[in-house]
Amino acid sequence: MAKDKVSAEFGSLVFSDSDMRERLPKPTYKELSRVIKEGVPIDLDIANEVAHAMKEWALEQGATHFTHWFQPLNGITSEKHDSFITPQDDGTVIMAFSGKELVQGEPDASSLPSGGLRATFEARGYTVWDPTSPAFIKDEVLCIPTAFISYTGEALDKRTPLLRSEAALEKQAKRVLSLFGREPRRVITTIGPEQEYFLITEADYEARPDLILTGRTLFGAAPAKGQELEEHYFGAIRPSVNAFMKELDDELWKLAVPAKTKHNEVAPCQHELAPIFEQGSLAIDDNLLTMEKLKLLATNYGFACLQHEKPFEYVNGSGKHNNWSISADGRNLLEPGPHPEDNLQFLVFLACLIAAVDEHADLMRMSVASAGNDHRLGANEAPPAIVSIFLGDALSPVVDALIKKEHAEAHEAELMDLGVPALPEIFRDNTDRNRTSPFAFTGNKFEFRMCGSQQNLADPNVVLNTAVAEQCERFCDYVAARADEEFYVVAMRFVRHTFRDHQRVLFDGNGYSEEWEAEAERRGLPNLKTTPDALPALIDPANVALFEKYGVLNEAELHARYIAKVEQYAKLINIEANVMCDMARRLYVPAIMAYAGDIASDLATKDKFGITSSMEEGLCQSLTKGAELVWKLADVLEKKNAVVRSIGDPAELDEAYRDEVLPAMDELRAAVDGMEVICSKDCWPVPSYNDMLFYV
Ligand code: ADP
Ligand code: MG
Repeated sequence: MAKDKVSAEFGSLVFSDSDMRERLPKPTYKELSRVIKEGVPIDLDIANEVAHAMKEWALEQGATHFTHWFQPLNGITSEKHDSFITPQDDGTVIMAFSGKELVQGEPDASSLPSGGLRATFEARGYTVWDPTSPAFIKDEVLCIPTAFISYTGEALDKRTPLLRSEAALEKQAKRVLSLFGREPRRVITTIGPEQEYFLITEADYEARPDLILTGRTLFGAAPAKGQELEEHYFGAIRPSVNAFMKELDDELWKLAVPAKTKHNEVAPCQHELAPIFEQGSLAIDDNLLTMEKLKLLATNYGFACLQHEKPFEYVNGSGKHNNWSISADGRNLLEPGPHPEDNLQFLVFLACLIAAVDEHADLMRMSVASAGNDHRLGANEAPPAIVSIFLGDALSPVVDALIKKEHAEAHEAELMDLGVPALPEIFRDNTDRNRTSPFAFTGNKFEFRMCGSQQNLADPNVVLNTAVAEQCERFCDYVAARADEEFYVVAMRFVRHTFRDHQRVLFDGNGYSEEWEAEAERRGLPNLKTTPDALPALIDPANVALFEKYGVLNEAELHARYIAKVEQYAKLINIEANVMCDMARRLYVPAIMAYAGDIASDLATKDKFGITSSMEEGLCQSLTKGAELVWKLADVLEKKNAVVRSIGDPAELDEAYRDEVLPAMDELRAAVDGMEVICSKDCWPVPSYNDMLFYV
């Protein structure tokens, strides 16, 4: 049967398992499969054969270069291209690629953030091939997914701890399953990341230095119309956007990125793309590729794609929902029904997850903290900075009932009589969606909604995987300590006690309400409102112990990540402050003064004829005063920024940026925005919110 175009092209730019099987000698393919499955080091002879086959395949697809593709601590992907050409004695070249080049690279990426892990004398970092993630071709470059580690072996990237956390969770989840008599071959996490973004015209983008340099508008009066009519959400997609989305799908499908759903979002010009879920680290790779393609392809259609969490004040910002579950040999462990014998196992995993999120709410919050996301979390458009769990109408009654029966020890026997684990069947219910919850059960998976649109999802998943691994181990220990009791009775008790002990994190109500903030405080839930509040969780001794116990990150690596995040926050706000001062002095003040000057000469001319205008006089005065205020506030901001920038202590530095610099930025913005609404449109030096958000 002839294949349709999409299925024929799907994955055509990925060196897939079937390509390897086809192109590698059988014993080589078998050995490579073993390396991938068991995570053992690869033999150089095997690597040479794989490299050769990979190169031949890549050349057939038109590739000329290769790169070790990796994810440094600043979250975006890095690559340095090397061509395959190897000069020969006769002046010709051949295209060559060795096993050594495949397995290890030295990008000499000494300028990438390392949080101080690399002193300059040993600045080299190494990239190491991750054979579990397939190689692919992007713009005629063979991209080889790699981990990035320091000379001394510490992780310098986002992928390494993610893989370690996946391994830790797999190990502990398998132990839980074996207590239920199951011995799956693989336990993996599954992730479906929903990506939000804005599209504006490239012309508007290019006219806004703030968007170009910081990704968000640092100035701009409120548009006459915002998102209140809710006409954009799920509305018809405009033809130019549709054409862009079509090409995007085509390009992503070639890379085997399973792009599935596309629609308009709540804010004007805001859109979303959701893929079908995949194995965790692969889903994250694919999300990074999606972000890259979004940006690149937008320009083909005269658009700029904005991925910042809050490109525009007054309308919603962008998030990235991390849909997450665990799967054993293709069986979703968070699927509640329909088999009653699975219920208890489901409840055990549910209990582990609830305990994990409650105990490590600080880390969950930390994992999504950034200067950009601070504008979103808690701004009544995104889940609050308080981590809570929504279970919904299907699960909440079950959990409540189990908690209530906590003291009725007799009930255990009763359950046994009824033929445990015949708990009532828990129906999957997708109808009740609480969009205000940061961590919601949605039928057969959890959706973590605090993540920012431009972040790498590795961080939240490292936390989640490790925290759940810890709880799975706690369950196994709990059962082992009660070996003389019936397993089902013990497991049931674990579930009930866990629900009881972590009840405080469960909340089905409106997460955006003020009452919830007060209630959460009464319950003792952390409310880490800003990035400087959230980051210290990374170096909290209890959290260091957690990550060390599961071999995910050691103390030095955690400290480095903390420093890298602290620096990132400070650097971003410093850049924003610089851009604001520059725009204020060199764009806005001259524009306001020019307009005031026009009015003044107009007044002077009129005066000759004995005509007066109190409106013009008043306006001229307001503009002159306004320009003076803008100039003064730019000076204030510049001075504050200079003082804060010199603070040495990392925690103090970020707090000062938040408490000193951000308010000074707000004041400057207010002064400029106040001028925008009284200045002539013709003289305003940048496109307004109305222009950018409501183009045709
Ligand atoms: P929404 O209404 O939020 O769009 P969907 O049910 O369409 O919800 O799913 C959203 C995302 O969740 C998709 O990317 C989907 O592939 C993903 N998803 C579905 N099931 C799972 C699962 N078991 N594990 C991880 N992600 C999943
Ligand atoms: Mg969603």
